[in-house]
Amino acid sequence: MPGGVNSPVRSWRAVGGDPVVLARGSGARVYDEDGRSYVDLVGSWGALLLGHAHPDVVRAIAARAELGSSFGAPTALEVELASAIVRLVPSVEQIRLVSSGTEATMSALRLARGVTGRDRIVKFEGCYHGHGDSLLVKAGSGALTFGVPDSPGIPAALAELTLIAQYNDADGVRRLLRARGHEIAAVIVEPVAGNMGVVPAAEEFLAALREETARAGCLLVFDEVITGFRVDLGGAQALYGIRPDLTCLGKIVGGGMPLAAFGGSREIMRNLAPEGPVYQAGTLSGNPVSVAAGLATLRAIDALPDAHARLDRLGASAEAALREALQASGVTGCVNRVGSMLTLFLGTDRVGSFEDATRTDPVLFARFFRGMLEAGFYLPPSQFEAMFLSLAHTSADVGDFGRAAGKTLRRLAR
Ligand code: PMP
Repeated sequence: MPGGVNSPVRSWRAVGGDPVVLARGSGARVYDEDGRSYVDLVGSWGALLLGHAHPDVVRAIAARAELGSSFGAPTALEVELASAIVRLVPSVEQIRLVSSGTEATMSALRLARGVTGRDRIVKFEGCYHGHGDSLLVKAGSGALTFGVPDSPGIPAALAELTLIAQYNDADGVRRLLRARGHEIAAVIVEPVAGNMGVVPAAEEFLAALREETARAGCLLVFDEVITGFRVDLGGAQALYGIRPDLTCLGKIVGGGMPLAAFGGSREIMRNLAPEGPVYQAGTLSGNPVSVAAGLATLRAIDALPDAHARLDRLGASAEAALREALQASGVTGCVNRVGSMLTLFLGTDRVGSFEDATRTDPVLFARFFRGMLEAGFYLPPSQFEAMFLSLAHTSADVGDFGRAAGKTLRRLAR
């Protein structure tokens, strides 16, 4: 396997050394093949809001697998998941299930292009929307970490159709849409950026996107692959009260199994085959085992009346501990957080934009990562990613995390 991994973000090239090989996970912990255990702050890159091997999810997967793992035909369970999504996510009236976040964003853009009859799209520098050709332009996450935000292999003719704007620059995107809006099919955005490290969207930025896309007759696509069900049961659109035209979901919606989705109003979604002419398909789409895991996950979260308040409390205490650790150590850094997703940026004292994020110190971050690993904490191996807390993390876990971060930062200061 190139680089020893099946997805580049798993490599530790940005922090040095070989990745630990994981054998199992339980609750908030993961265990490597040598039996060492870590408090997990990756959570399968945000997919595991309930933590590892939640009993309801395990039971649902096992029970469903006994009945056959795939049919490529309609099942009753997929209707239940679709109904749950429609009930929870404010702007979604119809949904199509797919197998990965990449597929969801790629398909949402095709639909937007098909509906509007326009070819260009707008994305923001440092946002990552999967590895589809149109979207792997000035991309965040691993593409940014490994210095290939514009990957070779993307036809120039296609990349030209992707216009780049700056995250949180409402005036910039307003100017772009007023000048070229008639050519643009869709503006796609992470409503909380997670793939340049966590950068919350300014509310006026999201409001400007809503207003200007409506004015230009193009579709606003919220990529809620990370934020969906995490920052609020209804995603960022519920948290900020903004209705996008299309929503992409992934990660949590599949409960740790390969499943993602895109949806929107009936009026837009009915353009999708077989109702409409925009083609999109998948042998494993709505796979019953994945659907069972997703449904069990959404039900378990929904059944906890204070799930998101609890996640926010955990996040707030992790944030406070990191700030205190920064202050006590004298290391320059800052913490960005929305609910249970957060990033400690090292080497700069404010990150409100992509440009700010690039001013961080990767060497300092690598040393922090290694110190935390030694102390038993499994962090994303890049400065440009989010740490994720889950409902399996306890305040004791977060307390230990804060103390370990304090010790590690003090060592870095020496
Ligand atoms: N959108 C966002 C916001 C993501 O964070 C990711 C993956 N981290 C994707 C899309 C792509 O999802 P997948 O890796 O499932 O293709």
